[in-house]
Amino acid sequence: MITSIAANHAKGKSAQDKIFGANAAAVAAAAKYGADKVTNATIGAILDEDEKLVCLPTIEKVYRGLATNELIAYAPISGLPDYLEKVITAAFGTSRPEGYIAAVATAGGTGVIHHTIWNYMDAGETALTSDWYWGPYKVLCQDMGRKLDTYKMLDENNKYNLPDLKAKVNEILGKQKSLLLMINTPAHNPTGYSLSEEDLQGVIDIIKEATAGTDKTVTLLLDVAYIDYAGEKEEVRKIFKKLSNLPANILSIVAYSMSKGFTLYGQRTGAMIGVSSSKEIIEEFAAINQYTSRATWSNINRPAMKTLANIYSDPELLAATEKERDDYYQMIKARADLFTKEAEECGLPMLPYVAGFFLSIPAKNPDAICDKLHEDNIFAVPLAAGVRIAVCAVPLKKIAGMAAKVQAAMQAV
Ligand code: PLP
Repeated sequence: MITSIAANHAKGKSAQDKIFGANAAAVAAAAKYGADKVTNATIGAILDEDEKLVCLPTIEKVYRGLATNELIAYAPISGLPDYLEKVITAAFGTSRPEGYIAAVATAGGTGVIHHTIWNYMDAGETALTSDWYWGPYKVLCQDMGRKLDTYKMLDENNKYNLPDLKAKVNEILGKQKSLLLMINTPAHNPTGYSLSEEDLQGVIDIIKEATAGTDKTVTLLLDVAYIDYAGEKEEVRKIFKKLSNLPANILSIVAYSMSKGFTLYGQRTGAMIGVSSSKEIIEEFAAINQYTSRATWSNINRPAMKTLANIYSDPELLAATEKERDDYYQMIKARADLFTKEAEECGLPMLPYVAGFFLSIPAKNPDAICDKLHEDNIFAVPLAAGVRIAVCAVPLKKIAGMAAKVQAAMQAV
């Protein structure tokens, strides 16, 4: 009996998404006990204080106001020209790095990660990210026949662990010609950690030193999916200045996503922005990534690109959008502040949260803790080394008392 006709590379693959599984359990509990009795801390999208999915009003207005042609026509494969120009401003603000820069439109931030893994790693090579990471990084690597290794993100004092990063960079570059280093900052998923400017300088010093005088190369992917809810707009963008004038064997790629910043998650729009001191490397970047787009999804969502281009061409629309984002940033911050305060009060350990959609509790048996929390109708996501709480999705009134319940569940299992 034939049980599989999949190609060898595809056999046995199936993405068990713990996040969607945990969400399904929360939805079932809400149907049984009533939504007001259930805390669903699994969703990676902003829900307001009434637990409704938020769409920023100015984004909705601009998107819905587009002419039918803009909604339905194809876009160029590399992206609409006005989008490609404005997305660079949207990403960098006033901290545009010096060097050659090009943008290629992608299907969300995921599309950037996909193209980067495909085009800057050879088959069988190993990419590097921190031990706390967004699960799809690994799925993307494995689906394309690449591996993923990790360094310890934080040391025993909860500081960014540059020595461990350095050891791993040198270890991997000892075995292969090029390295892809993926860093999700600011407002990291799942911890809410943000690298300081000094942390990022430390990263850059490490990869410069590891490649100096060799023909080795490093691609530094900065995944900034949550940058618009990470703090003051220009302050959080200062890290980009560090990408200026790096040696030609270091390519920086910024993974920009419209999913969170524009609340357009399902519209699947983002951009990969390459920064290099070499004109040739950036010409190659634009060419090879456009080619992979043609070979993967062809062109992407025109109306979402047009929405960004229109908003970033109109100071009033931009100011309104930024005000709306800031209001939701404050809403999420208030939730995280309350959780943090209560965690301190009851002695619940937390990873250092700076900003963002999620915070994490380090734990030895996350699955058991999450199961125990179900008895309180609290649903969170068990990760390899802890429990992820989506403060973006839980109203303030349900945050109150939650840390103590997590602490009790930890002690009970
Ligand atoms: N990177 C991280 C860390 C994320 O959490 C997400 C979304 O959840 C993304 C990238 C990309 O999202 P999208 O493909 O929707 O832009």
